[in-house]
Amino acid sequence: MTASQHQHPALAAADPELAALVGAEERLQAETLRLIPSENYVSAAVLEASGTVLQNKYSEGYPGRRYYEGQQNIDQVETLAVERAKAVFGVDHANVQPYSGSPANLAVYLAFAEPGDTVMGMALPMGGHLTHGWGVSATGKWFRGVQYGVRQDTGLIDFDQVRELALKERPKVIFCGGTALPRTIDFAAFGEIARESGAVLVADVAHIAGLIAGGAHPSPVPHVDVISTTTHKTLRGPRGAMLMSREEHAKALDKAVFPGLQGGPHNQTTAAIAVALREASQPSFRDYAHAVVANAKALAEALLARGFDLVSGGTDNHLILMDLTPKQVPGKIAAKALDRAGIVVNYNTVPYDPRKPFDPSGIRIGTPSLTSRGLRTEHMATVADWIDRAVAAAGTGDEQALTAIRAEVADLMTAFPAPGLPV
Ligand SMILES: *Cc1c(COP(=O)(O)O)cnc(C)c1O
Repeated sequence: MTASQHQHPALAAADPELAALVGAEERLQAETLRLIPSENYVSAAVLEASGTVLQNKYSEGYPGRRYYEGQQNIDQVETLAVERAKAVFGVDHANVQPYSGSPANLAVYLAFAEPGDTVMGMALPMGGHLTHGWGVSATGKWFRGVQYGVRQDTGLIDFDQVRELALKERPKVIFCGGTALPRTIDFAAFGEIARESGAVLVADVAHIAGLIAGGAHPSPVPHVDVISTTTHKTLRGPRGAMLMSREEHAKALDKAVFPGLQGGPHNQTTAAIAVALREASQPSFRDYAHAVVANAKALAEALLARGFDLVSGGTDNHLILMDLTPKQVPGKIAAKALDRAGIVVNYNTVPYDPRKPFDPSGIRIGTPSLTSRGLRTEHMATVADWIDRAVAAAGTGDEQALTAIRAEVADLMTAFPAPGLPV
């Protein structure tokens, strides 16, 4: 019997083709070193909650005010998730219904801006997210997006530019946060600028929500109007999202999510979010969040020692952005070679990248997943060594070296089984 038949007997019987793919993915996730900073391994409990019969229920509306009957249990599930989110993040209000991070951000625009209004966020190639007003996104088509970046000399957010742009353009909404920011976000500095310019300030903490919950990154709470986050990155929950705020914005956000943008909430996801938030409230999650950062710092040091160029010179959080220009290997070629070596990363633009977004100069890595498996700072030299050897092999086309690394990776990964996966 394969692992998948054992784990998913009904699926294996009903649809062997699909079950085989799930089994293959389980093996891939077990045997490879996953360094994509937006990914993680959820616990078996989160996985179970997201596969329950809560799937079968329609629940348009909010607890106590639904458009369908039969909500005796669902109302309690959603209320649990909401109350846990409020406790973990220290906020007045939480909406746990957004389907994912992108629709959550769209709901924020719907709540606070009209089509054609000016909105502001970090430029995508600087480390921002598509939904922060970038041109190809609906948020950049339906609103007038103005974009800030990082300084070329430091790789840090240019607050002079942020302030100047905000006062000149008077955006309705300012987004801070992003997808490739290796440094602590100064929410207080953004808060001052937002107040001065009269904008609603949104902290999109999708990447760092788990670090905030675990006390390993400062909280945006006193400084921002709205917090938007996914639940599936460092927070280690199911694929989903939440919007949080002070009481004054509660109604606007709720109305924007439903009926503004969405229909029925995904109750099985809400349940899994509740489970993940319970996990995030435990002392062991504080240890996890701090270990993620300690691992990233140790990995950054080990990479610097091997001559790698890191944007901003290192990291304060879970993420490292590597500029491979000095190694003379383009990001995409390096990422594909690393994948063959069993090390999963993504190629990424670096600030002021002279190359194109689909073939950029960098790769982005992070430590949330490997920390979930129990790897600690003493393992980071080994990880840096594998990356170094694989990037070198990518440059010389040495496939044998990549195969050798893949075996070493699988060996170590077997010793550190991932949460939620069959052993
Ligand atoms: C991941 C991410 C999102 C989008 O989340 P999806 O669930 O992929 O839609 C939005 N903002 C930031 C900063 C992110 O990192």
